[in-house]
Amino acid sequence: MSLLVVGSIAYDDIETPTEKRENLLGGSAPLFSYAAGYFGPVQMVGVVGADWLPEHTEMLRKQNVDTSGIEVVPDGKTFRWHGRYHENMNDRDTLETQLNVLGNFQPKLPENFRRAQFVFIANGTPSVGLATLDQIQGADLVVADTMNFWIELTRPELDALIKRIDGLILNDSEAKMLTGESNIITASRKILTQGPKFVIVKKGEHGAIFVSEYEMYVVPAYPMEKVVDPTGAGDSFAGALMGYIASQQGNLDGDTIKNALVYGTIVASFLLEGFSLDRLKEIGRADIEERREAFRMMTAF
Ligand code: AMP
Repeated sequence: MSLLVVGSIAYDDIETPTEKRENLLGGSAPLFSYAAGYFGPVQMVGVVGADWLPEHTEMLRKQNVDTSGIEVVPDGKTFRWHGRYHENMNDRDTLETQLNVLGNFQPKLPENFRRAQFVFIANGTPSVGLATLDQIQGADLVVADTMNFWIELTRPELDALIKRIDGLILNDSEAKMLTGESNIITASRKILTQGPKFVIVKKGEHGAIFVSEYEMYVVPAYPMEKVVDPTGAGDSFAGALMGYIASQQGNLDGDTIKNALVYGTIVASFLLEGFSLDRLKEIGRADIEERREAFRMMTAF
């Protein structure tokens, strides 16, 4: 099994109601990759500038991530994002997005990445997602994620991308923005008519729902008393979900899908306990299994 991800690689400035942190490792690709790395190897594609710290490459390598698809632009600056969370720690405002090297990025996949069986187009320029798919032959499963920024700015490219994927993961407000439908099941069904075979809608502290033509699965969120930083919860959810599916050879029966939703939920719950990858760096697969069992006891009936 081989799982490839392409997405943004970022340095983030994050403000929560109680704390402010600068220059945190972020971006959809590293956050996805780190979470997926608990389940098997990951091939990561993205672009960074001269300010990229080699220690971050090293950290990803130690977590099962093949970093040979990271392009370094020597005279460029890494993508930067500045976000501020509301009191509820769910809604947030983007204060600044500096595309920097991401703005002109044209992915060139290493030869051994082009046969990836599982592909995740993480949040980023939809044209980069399309250019990545052009270089991959015969993937078994292609899933994508997106964000309000790209829905507003690059709608035609995003629509072209949605036509070429098997699954779309997005949050409830993005599903509404994309379809104009306020009911998320109606919105999901509308997205299914554009090409994808399934849609997963994330509802923050209210969990997630999987919708395909004939199936529907729901998972609550893991109950959290204190959220430190929600940045990347969606990416780590997708990373664990895809990592688990890849580890099951892409089998998409109901049990595998439900387990994948649960692993996504559990890994995301750990991520919320710290800034950037701070908390994930402290835990291993055994911690994930232990919390998964606690979650099973809470939800099984
Ligand atoms: P999430 O909280 O899962 O939506 O992911 C947040 C991460 O996405 C942050 O680390 C940001 O650097 C990154 N990000 C923010 N805006 C964008 C954007 N327009 N395109 C790609 N990545 C972004």
